[in-house]
Amino acid sequence: MKKNLETYNQKRNFTKTKEPIGKKEPSKRKLRFVVQHHLARKDHYDFRLELHGSLLSFAVPKGPSYNTQDKRLAIHVEDHPLEYRNFEGTIPKGEYGGGTVMIWDEGTWTPLDKDPALAFKNGILKFSLEGKRLKGKWSLIHFKEENWLLRKEKDSVKGFKDIKRFTRSIRTKRTMREIETNAPKRQITKEEMANIEITNPDKIISRNPKITKMDLVHYYQKVLPRMMPFLEKRLMSTIRSPNGMEGEKFYKKHFEASNQNLRKIYIPSDSNKKEDYYSIKNPVGLLQEVQMNGYEFHLWGSKIPKILKPDMLVFDLDPDQNLSLEKVRQGVKDLKSILEELSLVSFLKTSGGKGYHIVVPMTSLKNWKEARDFAQNIAKIMEIKWPLRYTSNVRMKSRKGKIFIDWIRNTKGATSVAPYSVRLKKKLSVSMPIRWSELDKIKPDEITLDLALKRLKRKDPWENFFDISQ
Ligand code: MN
Repeated sequence: MKKNLETYNQKRNFTKTKEPIGKKEPSKRKLRFVVQHHLARKDHYDFRLELHGSLLSFAVPKGPSYNTQDKRLAIHVEDHPLEYRNFEGTIPKGEYGGGTVMIWDEGTWTPLDKDPALAFKNGILKFSLEGKRLKGKWSLIHFKEENWLLRKEKDSVKGFKDIKRFTRSIRTKRTMREIETNAPKRQITKEEMANIEITNPDKIISRNPKITKMDLVHYYQKVLPRMMPFLEKRLMSTIRSPNGMEGEKFYKKHFEASNQNLRKIYIPSDSNKKEDYYSIKNPVGLLQEVQMNGYEFHLWGSKIPKILKPDMLVFDLDPDQNLSLEKVRQGVKDLKSILEELSLVSFLKTSGGKGYHIVVPMTSLKNWKEARDFAQNIAKIMEIKWPLRYTSNVRMKSRKGKIFIDWIRNTKGATSVAPYSVRLKKKLSVSMPIRWSELDKIKPDEITLDLALKRLKRKDPWENFFDISQ
């Protein structure tokens, strides 16, 4: 059976589907591959390798597995046009492949045979993948008719254990549902913005540099597409500062009905009473908080509905007064080295104050006690390894000349400042995600609103934050 683009075009009605029309394209030097998670009549993953100007395609019902013992059925289907690798969206019901397509992984591939087309014809195609979720050596082995087996070859590459953990598009970060409802990580629409009345827009929040309330509204408006994934379904506390940075500040920890875009969540407290907390429902909810003079946002380390199961750890390095920035940076590096010994991936952000925050996505924690014990142990290891530099003891007396490795925020109900949140510290700055390589270049309170917005145009330094499972 001929499985070329002609078959592809014959199967589709292009007046009804937004999938691209099949035409051959010349190959660029590096061959590309894509894996598309396809929720159709049957849930499957489409595995596509660029070859001679189109995409050699397989439907893999269970998706690829890093376990070298697993042989995953891969059904050879018609070639797809190269452009198909960019397709993410819905295919109308009743049409061929009707359902939702998510770009699950993408990258380049290298055939391990000189002539991959011939290798394919002979029934054994070996290759390496350079994707974000799929890496290392793999093979496709023919066994009968259109049925092939996709298999991980032995090498040093370790990957995910459970494919189901990845629920977002590698390219647009959208979930299947968001793709279906065509809700991208969106900007706030003009209509929505018009519905928020900003009172006292010219109110001075910071004198030097001069920043007004409206400046903060604009900042959050622009940063929200990047910030929302961190806020979504997370309980939060807001710091309100009705009279600007120099005025009195209030912590808003409990739900208030005045903002209709807040979700109320009851949590049993230790005394068995129920307390009401909140999370924001959507970007507008956050801007309404800003309207109500809430400028700083602090988050729980767990997500609704699994409030009692933390999914990230945050370490704050809290230096004694007058300790040099160099020593704080050394502390961050030392902490990272301990995490690396444990094979944990971590992310860095400026605190907006005196230090840095190290954030560790932790999908395997069972409860808050485990999170707290784990974080405390890391702090203790640092204290034992470098007793003159670090302390895990919260008491001020034991901090003299040292850095307190603050593990205490990894407890139920504790919060830490959200990525991209403004800080109303000595000067107004942002708690900004940065690259590890930028640690020595960026001061903890250096990122102003302007700098933060400029940095948004660059690649997201925490791009794979939500892909980590560890
Ligand atoms: Mn498919």
